Amino acid sequence: MMRLQQACDALARDSYYEASAQPRPDHAPLRGSARADVCVVGGGLAGLSAALELAQRGMRVIVLEARRIAWGASGRNGGQALAGYASDMEPFERQLGADAARQAWQMSCEALDLMRQRIAQHAIDCDWTGGALTVAVTPKKAHALRAWYEGMRAHYAADHLQWFDAQATRAAIASQRYCAGVLDPSGGHVHPLNYTLGVARAAAQAGATLHEHSEALQVQPGGGGARARVRTADGDVQCDWVLLAGNVNLGALAPALARRVMPVGTYMIATEPLGAARADALVADRAAVCDNQFVLDYYRASADHRLLFGGRVSYSTVSPRDLAATMRAGMLRVFPQLHDVAVTHAWGGFVDITMNRAPDFGRAAPDVLYLQGFSGHGLALTGLAGRVAAEAIAGQAQRFDLFARLQHRAFPGGDALRTPALVLGMLWYRLRELL
Ligand SMILES: Cc1cc2nc3c(=O)[nH]c(=O)nc-3n(C[C@H](O)[C@H](O)[C@H](O)COP(=O)(O)OP(=O)(O)OC[C@H]3O[C@@H](n4cnc5c(N)ncnc54)[C@H](O)[C@@H]3O)c2cc1C
Repeated sequence: MMRLQQACDALARDSYYEASAQPRPDHAPLRGSARADVCVVGGGLAGLSAALELAQRGMRVIVLEARRIAWGASGRNGGQALAGYASDMEPFERQLGADAARQAWQMSCEALDLMRQRIAQHAIDCDWTGGALTVAVTPKKAHALRAWYEGMRAHYAADHLQWFDAQATRAAIASQRYCAGVLDPSGGHVHPLNYTLGVARAAAQAGATLHEHSEALQVQPGGGGARARVRTADGDVQCDWVLLAGNVNLGALAPALARRVMPVGTYMIATEPLGAARADALVADRAAVCDNQFVLDYYRASADHRLLFGGRVSYSTVSPRDLAATMRAGMLRVFPQLHDVAVTHAWGGFVDITMNRAPDFGRAAPDVLYLQGFSGHGLALTGLAGRVAAEAIAGQAQRFDLFARLQHRAFPGGDALRTPALVLGMLWYRLRELL
């Protein structure tokens, strides 16, 4: 766990988002005993979204963040706000049936609405730009994308999706790499760190208390007349409910949950500013783009006209050597015309993938809820996750329970063998893609 935290720290140092973040307040560490209706562990988007929703319902909320607000994936990600799930709808359909799967899809669309509403309502300055394109690199992947597109329109009423053939895709993206695409006009992209800081500000304004540098070291569920209790090094919170939203960093705090997610590293670079015209020429209307490869490329233009390009993965906590150069090579595979452009920032973070890549929400105890397993697809979905967790705490658990009914398996091999087992599994998928 210590190694993972050190890797997370190292990968945050050279982040373009940190370099372009808006000023942020410090939140004092927790000292002494405090009382709350709900104690939220984790100051990323999942925890902050829940804190905002709960505070808006008049509950007393305390958020404990081990480092700084938005230190984790929420402050470092590709910024792509997408409908749906990393797993796609298959686990929902197979495990819960067609009606529940349709409800889950609708909730993922609500997640996008919620993001836009929060940005407008709380005046969050985070460069929202509409449009998200998913593209295919090979005819085989174009075939899979077409099947997905037709399935979504036929079974999920996703009539807003637009099919792009090879010609339309090449007209939309100044690259010869792609042979098909699907545009989702309801998706988009943001500066994720500024968005997360904006949600934190909204939660604080609604009445939630945020504590930074306050790692939760022990969670004791309530019982026998006693309330739940969360301890930090310098204090403790007594509460009626605990919500765990710590992504891959929960570790010893909740080992049974930690075994159900695997930390997978993913990386980004930012170029120097390209100028408005050159940035505009890369992708029509500056939509966000990701491909549908197993190890995918994702990219978008920033408000100051850089290309922000993400990709690669690491299934150990070891980052690729010479990260900037490796990532730059990936970017030039897509846009060779950027050969003269310098890379100014390279960073990364960890995503919490589940075995089936569907999100993992549930109850660790009757009064301890958790949200995890966003599997690299959590920017929008964390907002909805926080909302359904707040609904469950307020007594309306139907939507939370739809997710909680999904079955998840722990990764095999225990802590020591989980990573090698995953590496082998992932290599197998990668190999299948190349065949
Ligand atoms: C490089 C990268 C690119 C990505 N790109 C995209 C994208 O384009 N689109 C998309 O949808 N998703 C993307 N994701 C995934 C997305 O960022 C995550 O799914 C989402 O941010 C998860 O939010 P979270 O609140 O669950 O976790 P986090 O943001 O990681 O927050 C968890 C917080 O909990 C804190 N914590 C953990 N344990 C404790 C404890 N014991 N006590 C107190 N605090 C604790 C951590 O310090 C951390 O700040 C990407 C992720 C990465 C890393």
